Amino acid sequence: MHHLPNSFQISALCKDFISLTTINQIPSIFKSTSPPILILGGGSNILPMDHFEGTVVHNEISGITILEEDLNSIVIEVGAGMNWHELVMTCVDQNWGGLENLALIPGTVGAAPMQNIGAYGVEAKDSIQTVHYYRISTKEFQSISNAEANFGYRTSIFKTQLKNDCLITSVVFKLSKNHHQLHLSYGSIGEVLQKKKITDPTISDVAQAVIEIRQSKLPDPAKIGNAGSFFKNPLISKTTAQELHKNFPEISVFEVDDHTSKISAASLIEGCGWKGKIIGNTGTYKFHSLVLVNHGNATGAEIIQLSKDIQASVFAKYGVKIEPEVNIIS
Ligand SMILES: Cc1cc2nc3c(=O)[nH]c(=O)nc-3n(C[C@H](O)[C@H](O)[C@H](O)COP(=O)(O)OP(=O)(O)OC[C@H]3O[C@@H](n4cnc5c(N)ncnc54)[C@H](O)[C@@H]3O)c2cc1C
Repeated sequence: MHHLPNSFQISALCKDFISLTTINQIPSIFKSTSPPILILGGGSNILPMDHFEGTVVHNEISGITILEEDLNSIVIEVGAGMNWHELVMTCVDQNWGGLENLALIPGTVGAAPMQNIGAYGVEAKDSIQTVHYYRISTKEFQSISNAEANFGYRTSIFKTQLKNDCLITSVVFKLSKNHHQLHLSYGSIGEVLQKKKITDPTISDVAQAVIEIRQSKLPDPAKIGNAGSFFKNPLISKTTAQELHKNFPEISVFEVDDHTSKISAASLIEGCGWKGKIIGNTGTYKFHSLVLVNHGNATGAEIIQLSKDIQASVFAKYGVKIEPEVNIIS
């Protein structure tokens, strides 16, 4: 039995653990390993139970290769096992723009397309050009373009049609080299820059502001086990959202398009009195109700129970279903 690494800091074991450092290993791994197989990056978006009766394939394929470059842009291919924040900071150091708002998101590059990671008004899909992967069922190496990947809010083809059937090996990003398109209006980025009297921010200033905001709001998984936002923000019809907001002004609603609104799941959970609550070994983070935490010796089952209790109370009060963003490994 081997330890199954996870940012929830849950004590979990798996039957086998394989370190994947090069794509040459892949065909033989999938030939000789019987399911279930869990493809793992940093373990920062999973909730494991005590035992995983299968093999963990830990993606450690690293490296950045420049594929194309001109005066205005650069195209890079990045190994799926590279640490995401390290990639963001490498790009910032090189003055390659596009990923700076996604600084300090834990995990690996290969997991980024899975749920199309996003923060502060930017999503991974905004810079991804192509994703290279191994299709487990057909035993083939394949590539998919951004347009074919069905990227959406915290979703993609990898989390739907190709779920458990693909191992992302590398991701190709197109980034700007000058005239960077900065996204400053989301959250308190503008406010932080203003406080620092920065009027003409660089991508490095933006990354730094994002890092400071995240450090003040989110628990460090090394200190308090968590997997970031446990639930997705629900998308509901604009008319239902307007009605809900009229009855419950404490709920935050964002317009997505002419017909759809996004509700802040944090505001729903907070509205049910869960913010900062401690229940046995589990609870919600004191500064962010969407983040479920392990206060010490929580099991996966205890976190699941807490998530179900939260879902039930949100539904009972607001009639809105909230779904987990985190991948539950059973
Ligand atoms: C404190 C904190 C803050 C966070 N903030 C954000 C945020 O702002 N925005 C956001 O979107 N997310 C956020 N997250 C969630 C998490 O960081 C991302 O989902 C990240 O992409 C997970 O990467 P990982 O390598 O740890 O994935 P893992 O947890 O290892 O895996 C997640 C899922 O992807 C699959 N997977 C992983 N690698 C591969 C691969 N190479 N090929 C195929 N499948 C693979 C796994 O099987 C699993 O289903 C946060 C998490 C934490 C702990």
